[in-house]
Amino acid sequence: MKWQGRRGSSNVRSSTGGGKMIGGGIGGIIIAGILWLVFGVNPMTALQTGQAVTGGGSESSTELATSTDRDTQFVKVVLADTEEVWHQIFNEAGSTYKEPSLILFNGQVSSACGSASSATGPFYCPGDQTVYLDTSFFVEMRQNLGISGDQQGSGGQENQGKAGDFAQAYVIAHEVGHHVQTLLGISQQVNEARQQVTQAQSNKLSVLQELQADCFAGVWAQRNQERVQFLEAGDIDEAVNAAGQIGDDRLAKASGGAVVPDNFTHGTSQQRVEWFTRGLESGNVQSCDTFSGAL
Ligand SMILES: [Zn+2]
Repeated sequence: MKWQGRRGSSNVRSSTGGGKMIGGGIGGIIIAGILWLVFGVNPMTALQTGQAVTGGGSESSTELATSTDRDTQFVKVVLADTEEVWHQIFNEAGSTYKEPSLILFNGQVSSACGSASSATGPFYCPGDQTVYLDTSFFVEMRQNLGISGDQQGSGGQENQGKAGDFAQAYVIAHEVGHHVQTLLGISQQVNEARQQVTQAQSNKLSVLQELQADCFAGVWAQRNQERVQFLEAGDIDEAVNAAGQIGDDRLAKASGGAVVPDNFTHGTSQQRVEWFTRGLESGNVQSCDTFSGAL
């Protein structure tokens, strides 16, 4: 993915938390955070299955929790890209887009949604309309998601810099998708609806909300491509492959559990790929009505 030389967002801030994460479990914890971030997988589920899902990534803690200037700049450019595209889309609809903030944190952070750590993983908080990203997630994504297949040559940041760029951008776009759902009032409607239905139906609504954020990420990718031609060969496969690897069905199988659709809260691999692709191919938010006929 091409990203250098474009405007960086001024809505990115850093928060230096005091929290320390030490010990052998850190790899698993951060992987869980990534799963949570990318695909909304429950961190506790992910922690139980993380090894199987990721093929047992290294747990070296020396390379964790370090964000480089490159990472910060990358986040600023991707967030700015989402601002440009969503301003455009809201304007076309005769509305005004309100930009979210993004806080890069290390260890621990407090938000309007409560305090969070790397174990929580990056997330979007509707209360302060802010995306929270743990800085270690870039390193972990490069090392553990195995997205572009060249993770083995531990040749330092320079070599690893390109690995999974677009998957990282997709993660940010997915979180911004939750912001868009908040601006459109969708998140509030889902929350209210979830109070009034059975657990199975509530889970289903949660799936549909996540799938819509995937679809919005696809819409963003398409519109940003029209705007700045940022995609390179293999980028889409990279995101689709990542989505396909981390659906709830795969997690359930990896943990030896039965695949029971009503227990899914975040969608199957196939659903995630389908909805991302739908947004990508249409470039239109109207194609992202995951809720139609839901209950
Ligand atoms: Zn999500």
